[in-house]
Amino acid sequence: MSRLWRVLSVLARLPAWEWSTNLHPAIGPPWPSSPIERKQFLSKAMSGTKIEWQNGKFVVPQHPIIPFIEGDGIGPDIWRAARNVFDEAVHQTFGEERRVVWSEILAGEKAYAETGEWLPEATLDAIREYRCAIKGPLTTPVGGGIRSLNVSLRQLLDLYACVRPVRWFTGVPSPVHSPEKLDVVIFRENLEDVYAGIEYQAGSPEARKLQSFLVDELSANVRPDSAFGIKPMSAYNSKRLIAKAIRFALTRGRDSVTLVHKGNIMKFTEGAFRDWGYELAAEEFAEHTISEAATWEGASAAGKVVIKDRIADAMFQQVLLRPNEYSVIATPNLNGDYLSDACAAQVGGLGMAPGANMGDGVALFEATHGTAPKYAGQDKVNPTSVILSGVMMFEELGWPEVAEAIIAGIEGAIAEKTVTYDLARQMDGAREVSCSGFAEAIVKHLPQRATA
Ligand code: NAP
Repeated sequence: MSRLWRVLSVLARLPAWEWSTNLHPAIGPPWPSSPIERKQFLSKAMSGTKIEWQNGKFVVPQHPIIPFIEGDGIGPDIWRAARNVFDEAVHQTFGEERRVVWSEILAGEKAYAETGEWLPEATLDAIREYRCAIKGPLTTPVGGGIRSLNVSLRQLLDLYACVRPVRWFTGVPSPVHSPEKLDVVIFRENLEDVYAGIEYQAGSPEARKLQSFLVDELSANVRPDSAFGIKPMSAYNSKRLIAKAIRFALTRGRDSVTLVHKGNIMKFTEGAFRDWGYELAAEEFAEHTISEAATWEGASAAGKVVIKDRIADAMFQQVLLRPNEYSVIATPNLNGDYLSDACAAQVGGLGMAPGANMGDGVALFEATHGTAPKYAGQDKVNPTSVILSGVMMFEELGWPEVAEAIIAGIEGAIAEKTVTYDLARQMDGAREVSCSGFAEAIVKHLPQRATA
């Protein structure tokens, strides 16, 4: 018992995020009652190891430490449900061999209540250090000078790619007649364009100064009562986003990358995005890619990723009318924002859409919807968005078996029409279950581990 006490004293001096998940009675599994079980529990909690980044890949130990932010509003409900699915799927797949050591980090309302800060520096440090984290939705604090926490996380951690796969699961209600034809992965630039946040209110000194500069120095025709939003787009950030999309297509066996832009109107920003994309493909991926234009002239695309481009407005038609012609999409920030939600609507809405914010060697997986405050604490909403974000995470970490098991679990639950309210209200004969009930249904349908 005295040894246990010594371990506890050491833990008490560690930063909260290093141990809280495994020991916090409200978050972690129950604190065992017998001393022997407690010892085993503690040694398990301390057995995690950091994920490393080598040669452009995550190097993942058997017991990786993965920080999580449970999020505000419905966040705790969906996180609890998702964590149950993740742990069961890892266990069903790998038995005792592998296990995720979850470790809570704070952001949003919980962070503010406990530390007086919405986004503590320790949270950013933990994500940098442990490289891979997962989060629920965060409230955007209302008030002067406070930025969206999600935007801050992306900017401060240099997470330059927002990755959103959109696919349909059999049985999910959809407003289109062939939702199975849509299976795209959208790579949306995550730091620039409207996310750069350079905006001036009409009549402000900044707006007046800018208006004078544009009229006097650049002979532009701009009304004096104008407001301004500036949309910077750099070759550097556009190219590294497009490179990530092309690498993804190559490693996941996807046949095309489509650059979606509004270059017919914004030639030097959106148009440049398209040009930089073709340039990059020719310079860095010449052996493995081919432009669509070259295929029109008779060149063979066999074994290569076809690089094509579409104007954004036309693309909204394309994903409805000919979705199976698109596989990976790379796009500037604002187009990607619209397009990913429009695509998600075809496959069941935001509750079914996962996302990840990725940089080089750091990734933050997240539910794409908000905190839905009216449902907070009701154990009601659909946890699939954050569960599918976990699927993306396990794929990225090189545990695809776990990802496949979870997908099979989701498919099984939906096939027997055991679903949360959002899907149940659109499905005939559905059995409506709670958020945690849906997680249990997924667990019930996980493929059982073959025992020797
Ligand atoms: P929201 O939280 O996404 O909720 C809008 C509606 O979407 C809900 O009322 C619900 O529709 C549906 N919904 C959302 N999540 C669902 C789920 N898991 N299962 C089923 N249905 C779901 O959007 P909001 O009300 O505009 O935003 C609320 C807060 O979230 C704001 O503070 C916003 O800044 C923040 N936000 C955060 C993120 C993020 O952290 N990534 C993203 C967006 C917004 P029904 O009412 O039809 O049931």
